[in-house]
Amino acid sequence: MNQVVDPGDTVIDATVGNGHDTVYLAKLVGPRGLVYGFDIQQMAIENTTAALKAEQLERQVTLTHAGHETIDELIAAKQPIKCAIFNLGYLPGGDKNIITKPATTLTAIQSIQKRLTTNGLIILLVYAGHPGGKQEAQAVTDYARQLDQHQFQVLHYGFMNQIHFPPELIAIQKR
Ligand code: SAM
Repeated sequence: MNQVVDPGDTVIDATVGNGHDTVYLAKLVGPRGLVYGFDIQQMAIENTTAALKAEQLERQVTLTHAGHETIDELIAAKQPIKCAIFNLGYLPGGDKNIITKPATTLTAIQSIQKRLTTNGLIILLVYAGHPGGKQEAQAVTDYARQLDQHQFQVLHYGFMNQIHFPPELIAIQKR
């Protein structure tokens, strides 16, 4: 991400959770940039607000307590997006039954794809170990695999020597 995102860019944290990625992105875009952050849980919005305040980064972040599937309603169609991150699954330390879902994740990916700048990047951290995770991992993998190679470069990274269900990373970069 730090090779793609420049100060002043507009980016998205599609699942803010406890705010670690939001803080990272807010630092990368700097005070002239903008991070749009989404989460369906009030606790995630509160935790992320606190994490941003602690580092005085609130100014460049707009947090929305809503699902990332509402991106089309909240972000202008003409707004170029340089990067987006999805850290899928459940909120660490929160309710493990509240998880990201295949249909809404795919809706959000498609909304962002339409706004992605040349070389812009969507990063998805995908977890298959929790109930529902395998189905979402499959849906995201299937979707990414069929993208036109002339329009998007898709990379898939995974741990080869970890037990259980290590996360996988899918990177979709616009050509
Ligand atoms: N990136 C976060 C961090 O740094 O702490 C962790 C994110 S956590 C793995 C996944 C988050 O996705 C949860 O906080 C959950 O509430 C949120 N979530 C679930 N469905 C969502 C949706 N439709 N739109 C946005 N966020 C959603």
